[in-house]
Amino acid sequence: KEQLDVLRLREQFPVLEREVHGKPLVYLDNAATAQRPLSVIEAMDDFYRRYNANVHRGVHQLSVEASEAFETARKDVARLLNATSDREVIFTRGTTEAINLVANSYLRPRVKAGDEILISHMEHHSNIVPWQLLCEQTGAVLKVIPINEKGELMLDALEDLIGERTRLLGLVHVSNALGTVNPVREVCEIARRHGVPVLIDGAQATPHEQVDVQAIGCDFYAMSAHKMYGPTGIGALWGREALLEEMPPWQGGGEMILRVSFDETTYNELPHKFEAGTPNISGAIGLGAAVRFLFDTGIEKIARHEQALLEYATERMSKIEGLRIIGQAAHKGPVIAFTLDGVHPNDIGTIIDHHGVAIRTGHHCAMPVMQFFDVPATARVSFAAYNLRAEIDVFLNALEKARQMLV
Ligand code: PMP
Repeated sequence: KEQLDVLRLREQFPVLEREVHGKPLVYLDNAATAQRPLSVIEAMDDFYRRYNANVHRGVHQLSVEASEAFETARKDVARLLNATSDREVIFTRGTTEAINLVANSYLRPRVKAGDEILISHMEHHSNIVPWQLLCEQTGAVLKVIPINEKGELMLDALEDLIGERTRLLGLVHVSNALGTVNPVREVCEIARRHGVPVLIDGAQATPHEQVDVQAIGCDFYAMSAHKMYGPTGIGALWGREALLEEMPPWQGGGEMILRVSFDETTYNELPHKFEAGTPNISGAIGLGAAVRFLFDTGIEKIARHEQALLEYATERMSKIEGLRIIGQAAHKGPVIAFTLDGVHPNDIGTIIDHHGVAIRTGHHCAMPVMQFFDVPATARVSFAAYNLRAEIDVFLNALEKARQMLV
């Protein structure tokens, strides 16, 4: 199988050339946000330099070009997720807004007091809080699928929890806090048997595997560009066309209407019905470029490389005394969360930053995961296509120095 040429790939990422505290940057915080390749930076730059204009409005040439680029990006996202149509792709600010859109437009009109919303114990706050808000407003009840000590979903419990009153199941595809890759197809199959729609939070999945919403069998899929080498502030919601057609708009304004009078307003068709106001045009163009970067590089090649890094780092970290890896699922994305006996993760993060190594420390917007493993926080390394084995060595040396200082 063809290997990823990582050194050549790195040349596409200008930020990787910089130094931090006099040391070469070792960026291992990719689950928080990945770095951007030149193709993404240049696509956005090109828009502002050459054809900046508002979309879907003007007859003039710049507006035509901007609209075309914006809609091409939508097609790119449809291709990334294997949507049946680009009408099923709604641009949002990211995963968070995509989930809030489903909560407000799809679920709110459908839930009554006593109805149930099912999520898992390993969700990011963005797949918890929108449902809690909805529960507060409607009297619906949030139910939680438990996880085991390895950080895996307990599928048996799902069978017990799902039922007549379940109105939606929300599940993270790949956990940012544990790395766990959830069996989303199996879960969707179970849900389908009960007639329950499924929303998948794909924020951590799109950069690492070829996502196919039709094969997964979900009803909604949320993603963020910035986790997959694209810009911040843009992402998408994919939804089944039939469901999206039924849903009312959730924000009102320009773009989302066909005709407005004080007596009656009619709404635009999909996907514009859900895109009120001037969108993040440069962001969408950057997202389109990020999709093309993924395809051009080869998602499977990237995944193989990242899995090799994950294996190498896991093996070496497992030998460190007092180091506990939080999340040991059989199937993991390139994320390793850990604690070190007697040391607060924030202190580790601060010390190794002085060696140029960027990692994330804290609760990773998944406080219930911290509660389950009974830790206040974890340190987390997460890999991307451009990371090197040698960078893991730099990280491990820095970690050893931190330990000597702190323990
Ligand atoms: N879900 C998961 C699993 C995530 O990792 C993140 C980002 N950390 C989000 C949701 C939220 O994404 P965004 O902040 O881009 O909306």
